[in-house]
Amino acid sequence: MSNFFDEVNRTFDEAAKFTEYPQGLLDQIRCCNGVYRFDFPIRRADGTIEVIHAWRAEHSHHKMPVKGGIRYSPEVYEEEVMALAALMTYKCAIVDVPFGGAKGGIRIEPKDYTVDELERITRRYTHELVKKGFIGPGIDVPAPDYGTGEREMAWIADTYQALVPGHLDAMGCVTGKPVTQGGVRGRREATGRGLFFALREACAHPDLMAPLGLATGLDGKRVIVQGLGNVGYHAAKFCREGGAVLVAIAEREGAIVSAKGLHEDEVFQHRKTTGSILDFPGAANLRDTAAALELECDVLLPAALEGVFTAENAPRIQAKIILEGANGPTTPEADPIFRQKGILVIPDIYCNAGGVTVSYFEWLKNLSHVRYGRMSKRHEQANELQMLRAIESATGKRFTDAERAELARGPDEVDLVNSGLEETMITAFHALLETKRSHPGIPDLRIAAFVNAIHKVARSYMELGIFP
Ligand code: NAD
Repeated sequence: MSNFFDEVNRTFDEAAKFTEYPQGLLDQIRCCNGVYRFDFPIRRADGTIEVIHAWRAEHSHHKMPVKGGIRYSPEVYEEEVMALAALMTYKCAIVDVPFGGAKGGIRIEPKDYTVDELERITRRYTHELVKKGFIGPGIDVPAPDYGTGEREMAWIADTYQALVPGHLDAMGCVTGKPVTQGGVRGRREATGRGLFFALREACAHPDLMAPLGLATGLDGKRVIVQGLGNVGYHAAKFCREGGAVLVAIAEREGAIVSAKGLHEDEVFQHRKTTGSILDFPGAANLRDTAAALELECDVLLPAALEGVFTAENAPRIQAKIILEGANGPTTPEADPIFRQKGILVIPDIYCNAGGVTVSYFEWLKNLSHVRYGRMSKRHEQANELQMLRAIESATGKRFTDAERAELARGPDEVDLVNSGLEETMITAFHALLETKRSHPGIPDLRIAAFVNAIHKVARSYMELGIFP
């Protein structure tokens, strides 16, 4: 039976056919450089001892440090972590983030543990990584993923600092931290915002929209979101704010549907209060959550786990665009079905790269020990005010105080982060389109994305002089 890592490599092999690198170099790029598998005990609140299974995979050391999230899920397995690490290598290459790929996993259902237990598990996991040299600002830099968030990243940073005292750049050992603990503004929503930029960019192209029978622009596009966690929530928010309509949201316990449109935050608050997404006022319940993916819509946004679209359900998918928020939601068997149906798949290794892009900005901030905008905000504001005065004297027009405050405020950290993210997502999208256009045989954007990644990683190895 094929596993997730085999699936990623099958796509890699398909893309490699559009390159001319020697097989040895391709083999080096696709293999997973190292996996650390370890078990450790924790004492539960009831006094019993439980053995926890954990992994950290470092897929490619062609650039250092390596980077990738940590997943807490009862379904984590070794090849899954290796696959996710491989996707990180390709993702970083596609958006020009100078890291190799990595991923970590702990096999637990976070809901079954107290906060105190989760803290001890996270700190012990970090301890093991430090002992084996699998974490550090120049070695391996984890981040949040499924089942983890800012809280876990803060515990990791704190544990690392305790174990490696006096290390000036210690804060750069992990990203996705709370802003008060060395995080960067905009990281929490970065993956969702990046997905929005990717969708907006795709929808702006008449030659991509026309074959789908869609008008350009996001306005009125009907979106279905699977998974209202970090990625799904923020992607839904930015798409709705950009003019799209959320017609269905699917969670573990079921889905809710409303042609009039849902508001992600109201749904989130409802789930928080009642414990379920179901019975949301004004929406219809769908108890079979997977069935929500098969409803008619313009954009389907999987933002939960991998392996969602298979040969079995792909023929029933009615979406025109699939925006892959999750890693690996489409199996290699589903891809050709989507191609044949004419569905535009915006691939995970490009469109969910907003998280690692802003993680890179956070890491740079940690190494430079200064908040973005601190040195330049006032200077830029003064320049902008000068410009406004020049316009006033040339035109005789007087700006109001409100206009002046809006036009001459100098960028804050979050403005700079968001603009860096927007630039990254747009540039990478155009590179994918260019690759697809210049190789008529490339069947879709996923293969184009892999081709771009292979070129960048290959070049890096060749510059090292390892391969001719
Ligand atoms: P999360 O834990 O914050 O949210 C995941 C959500 O999916 C949860 O609300 C969960 O209840 C829901 N879910 C689980 N199974 C489901 C099912 N069968 N149907 C519907 N909903 C289901 O995780 P996240 O950080 O949002 O990550 C989601 C996906 O995005 C993962 O594949 C992850 O690898 C990928 N990703 C995350 C980031 C990031 O920055 N967090 C970056 C890139 C990619």
